[in-house]
Amino acid sequence: MEPDRALFDVFVVGGGPAGAAAALTLARRGLSVALCEAGDVGRLGMPWSLSPGVSAQLSFLGLNDVLRDAVLREDLSVWRRWGGGALRETPGGTTLLCDAVRFSQAMCASAEASGVRMARPARLHRRRWNGRAWDLEVLTSGAAETWRARFLVDAAGRGTAFRRRTLTGTPTIAVAATWRDARSEATTIVSASKAWFWSAPTGSRQTTLVGFTDPQHFRTFSGGSWDRYAALVREAGVELPGTPDREIVVCNATPYLSASPASRRLLRVGDADAALDPLSSTGVQAAIQSALAAGPVVATLLDPHGDANAALAFWEARRRARVRAHQGWSAELYAEAAAFHRTPFWTTRTAEHQASSSPPAPPAPSPPVPHPFDIVRLDPRTAFVSAACLVDDRAAYRECVAHPTLTEPVAFVDGVDAAPLLRLAATAQTAADLVARWSARLAPAESYRLLSWAWRQGVLSAALP
Ligand SMILES: Cc1cc2nc3c(=O)[nH]c(=O)nc-3n(C[C@H](O)[C@H](O)[C@H](O)COP(=O)(O)OP(=O)(O)OC[C@H]3O[C@@H](n4cnc5c(N)ncnc54)[C@H](O)[C@@H]3O)c2cc1C
Repeated sequence: MEPDRALFDVFVVGGGPAGAAAALTLARRGLSVALCEAGDVGRLGMPWSLSPGVSAQLSFLGLNDVLRDAVLREDLSVWRRWGGGALRETPGGTTLLCDAVRFSQAMCASAEASGVRMARPARLHRRRWNGRAWDLEVLTSGAAETWRARFLVDAAGRGTAFRRRTLTGTPTIAVAATWRDARSEATTIVSASKAWFWSAPTGSRQTTLVGFTDPQHFRTFSGGSWDRYAALVREAGVELPGTPDREIVVCNATPYLSASPASRRLLRVGDADAALDPLSSTGVQAAIQSALAAGPVVATLLDPHGDANAALAFWEARRRARVRAHQGWSAELYAEAAAFHRTPFWTTRTAEHQASSSPPAPPAPSPPVPHPFDIVRLDPRTAFVSAACLVDDRAAYRECVAHPTLTEPVAFVDGVDAAPLLRLAATAQTAADLVARWSARLAPAESYRLLSWAWRQGVLSAALP
């Protein structure tokens, strides 16, 4: 059965946070978009604890209703035993707990309302590039349908069969069970010598307790999955939250990066591209972040006048930066626990996260702007490089400012094309003279912001000691 031979601009595989957000943002750009979702979302039965960035992303997309539909609990207090000591409440720390299935369904409904053609439940079974477009064989209720699209976005999460991957961390599994008659009304996070645990109330007097450990360590316990889970919890001295429901969910939680790069006709977003260490609890935020970055990249790649090389370079830079930032957050948590446990479980993970996370933040700024009569000039370590960035919502190469304090080359500062203006500071001059030279092209407030930014980053420095 082939109900639809229409040629879509983009076909998205997977309706999790990444796929739904990518489809929505591409449809809002005027592209014709279809999405198929197999219906596996939330199959793990675990809720998501959402980082604060997700609310900001949803607001940006005008999707505040998604949280209204999906939130299980707001403002849950967080209790930690990270390293030694007793379980203690984290001052000011709260969790936003949401139902993974409802979250993804609400995101898909918003995508549909933005014009995305949905196929649900429908599984992409086979794909083939025919020289001009993708032929996509989708299985729906036992029947095969063929869809066609110029571009494919793989948002199929960890389970996708369509890519190779490189592990970016030590193998880790998550083992979860639900406990009834539970009393806890808080999220807990507990470290042990060979595992860490997360629990949260997921229903009326019901708690989900998840353990994260080495698959090898899990196999050292005897018996079936339940016996091993129970032994892991006992070994860690974690307080049992209630009466166990003996159904155990075991899943892979190892971080990885897709090994096949993006191409002119295929992009991977979310976990299909980069699955993060769950310790940072930022997987959903990173998935939506990657979907947002995919918008201008796919638009550039589909534009006959677009710079495809710039689009792919921009995409690669964004994904590396995203992974580095999220690895950095996990690195801090691993290091904190490693200082106490000093076992390979923690020391190995601390080392690998520190190695792949962002460099330390730039030093604290001195005065926000130099005095008008201070003599300033470009810092000798400032360089001008060509790098891919967004210009008018398309990827393009642009001259950028590079400096050791900047994690990436910068093209625009508050919307101002910075490199040509900063080049004017190659020779020493007073700050007032430099701003006067910029004034032909910038309003005073913009000049002040550029001067302030360049000074704080160390791109401009004092010419005289
Ligand atoms: C144990 C564990 C706990 C976690 N806890 C948190 C947390 O508390 N907070 C947090 O922010 N993140 C958490 N994460 C990470 C988070 O789950 C992921 O980062 C996030 O779901 C990624 O979104 P996604 O859209 O890329 O993939 P997914 O959410 O996995 O969605 C992929 C979708 O693709 C569909 N699909 C797959 N194959 C096909 C196909 N062939 N055809 C059609 N559809 C297909 C699936 O049905 C699924 O709906 C956790 C991860 C693990 C492993």
